Order: sequence, then C-alpha cells, then structure tokens
Amino acid sequence: MQRYFGRIVDKHVILEEDDIFHIVKVMRCKIGDKIEVVSDGRLYEAEIKSIKPVMIDVIGLIKEDHELPNQIILICALLKGDKLDYVIQKATELGVSEIVFALTNRTIVKVKKLDKDFKFERYRRIAKEASEQSKRLRIPTINRIVTLDRVKEVKADIKLVAYENVSGTTKSFLEGIKSLEKGKKLAILIGPEGGFENDEIAFLEDLGYKCVSLGKRILRAETASIYALSVIGSYLERK
Ligand code: SAM
Repeated sequence: MQRYFGRIVDKHVILEEDDIFHIVKVMRCKIGDKIEVVSDGRLYEAEIKSIKPVMIDVIGLIKEDHELPNQIILICALLKGDKLDYVIQKATELGVSEIVFALTNRTIVKVKKLDKDFKFERYRRIAKEASEQSKRLRIPTINRIVTLDRVKEVKADIKLVAYENVSGTTKSFLEGIKSLEKGKKLAILIGPEGGFENDEIAFLEDLGYKCVSLGKRILRAETASIYALSVIGSYLERK
C-alpha cells in the first residue's frame, strides 16, 4: 500500500495537493482502494470513499514502527551541486531524525542569506518523499543552517565529528555509537569537500565533539554521511 503523510480530522484524511494528484492521476486509485496515512507519528489504514471530490476516511490503526530507537542528527556541511539532494534522500531512508546544514571555513557553497531563501522547501519535499518510500513514521526535521560558532545550538548527548585526518581504525566511531543509551540523541558532523581546518576541530572538541574515523580511505562528503548513518543504523538495529 502506498504511504502518505497527512492530517486526520474527524476520521477524514487531509492530504497535500501533490499527494491527491498522485493518488488520482498517478496511482489511478478507485473507490474502495486503500492507502496508508501517517499522522503525528501514527500509521493508519484509510479507504478511498470518493474520487470527485477526493474523500478518504481512516478505517483502522496499523501497529508498525520502522523508526530507529534513538534520535540521530546529521549535521552536514553545505555541498556543491545537487549532492545535498542525494544526502537528504539517503539519510532519510537510513532513519535520520534531523538534518542540520553547516557553513564551515571550507564550505564551497556560499549562502548569501542564511535561513531565509535557502532551498528548505525543496529539501523538505525530498525528505517527505523518501520517508513515504522507506515506510517511515517521521519526516526528518530540516529547518536550519548553522555556522560553526552556532553548532552548540544543536543539542545531543553524543557529539561526533568525522575528521578525515584521523582516518584509520573505526574504533572511536563504534565506541561513540555504543555509548548511546536508550532514548539519547547522537549528532554526527560531516565536513565539506575541502574538509575541516585544525582550528575548527579544536573548537568542536571544546564543545564536546569527539573526533572519529570512518575508516582508512578518504570518503567524499556525501559518501561519509551515508557510511556513518549506515553503521549507526546497523548497530542500533542489530537486535
Ligand atoms: N579535503 C579532505 C582531504 O582530501 O583529506 C577530505 C574531506 S572529505 C572529502 C569530506 C568529509 O568527509 C570530511 O571533512 C569528513 O567529515 C568526512 N570523511 C571522509 N573520509 C573520512 C574518514 N576516513 N574518516 C573520517 N571522516 C571522513
């Protein structure tokens, strides 16, 4: 069954225009067809009662939860071109709960007006579609860009920074993940194409960030995000 994120009002399903179009024109649903609807983190089965106008009613609750047991925040430096589209889609599939963009000294992309006309709407749409496709109950929060001096605003219990200059064994990375207790939050910071400067790393360590290696090879920034989230998800879902 196709999954959509929407609102439930008196058992009636309220969806965005794009989703209505998808149901009617792409999926060509008929009266009696069923869809899954996620609202406020809960999953419902819903039935199409009418097509013109579209009316969809909840017929039951579905007990299922594909979310990771801990909240994982990916803080990723802005990347060139459409790499961020890819990172957002994959990070969403891998269970991230929030994606925060970071502006660091070597970030190549220059964002003129922070937080204002940035492509948040585009990125939120990518995350919504990836959440629907991967059968999640949540769409990752995507609503902020921080310069490194504001990264302290990102609250987490475990704070890791993937630092390419410590590339080698992943012992520190796995230790960081293993120390994540039930219900606690982990933030992982990934640098830009040009990497981190030493003073940025010193600043982050003062904020309580632990430098971790993602292995012996130097990964592209987009690969590093996906690798890190894959290892975190695999560890947290090992049981
Ligand atoms: N310019 C750097 C260089 O050539 O050494 C590489 C930066 S890398 C392309 C982009 C980001 O991915 C890094 O800042 C880091 O966050 C992460 N990264 C890539 N490979 C890594 C590794 N082996 N260990 C830790 N972090 C890594």
